[in-house]
Amino acid sequence: MNKESGAILVLSGPSGAGKSSLINKIIKDIGPTYFSISTTTRAMREGEIDGVDYHFVSEEVFAQDIEAEMFLEYAVVHGNHYGTSLGPVKTALKEGKLVIFDIDVQGNDAVQNRLGDITTSVFITTPTLKELNKRLVNRSTDSDEVIANRLEMAKREVQRISEYDYLIVNDDLDEAAEILVSIAKAARMKIPTLQINEFIQMWEAQA
Ligand code: 5GP
Repeated sequence: MNKESGAILVLSGPSGAGKSSLINKIIKDIGPTYFSISTTTRAMREGEIDGVDYHFVSEEVFAQDIEAEMFLEYAVVHGNHYGTSLGPVKTALKEGKLVIFDIDVQGNDAVQNRLGDITTSVFITTPTLKELNKRLVNRSTDSDEVIANRLEMAKREVQRISEYDYLIVNDDLDEAAEILVSIAKAARMKIPTLQINEFIQMWEAQA
């Protein structure tokens, strides 16, 4: 069966688990994709670019966007607002692309509720909490307090791994990337309920 519409791949996991490195590594190997750029109210980190890493906005602008129903989902993470814009996602899905989200557990929950039949979800984490701590310290983009918050958050997030289709323990980047490529290719083939019904009708009509 040839799929005409796209599909969604949700990636969640603690900051520092290596989601961005993994995405960058596999993006050229998984066919047409659209990586959803979220909107956030958090401060820009060194090296980040507005419109590339995130759309960085004020709380006022974020509130206006909520009011205008611009978001597929939005949540408060580490005390800042993050949201996924609906418009570009709809366009990419119509173009048959695999839409990739890097969102937290709350975002996954919302996307599963709205678009579960075309969504595959993956939780990515380090082998241990200790390793996560080490990576966050080595990244040295955050203060000790921010790192402590992120570790606490990570402990809560791993409690919800069972809400995901797959778990990738990112110990070896090459190995984790290979697994993610397989999952992304399979995610693209997920068939929306509507298309299954159409297929059955067409299949039966040609007796
Ligand atoms: P960071 O500030 O480290 O870039 O991201 C912090 C957390 O926010 C990560 O777990 C990331 O997946 C999550 N996040 C980023 N964008 C969104 C979004 O649009 N919606 C939701 N629900 N979470 C997001």
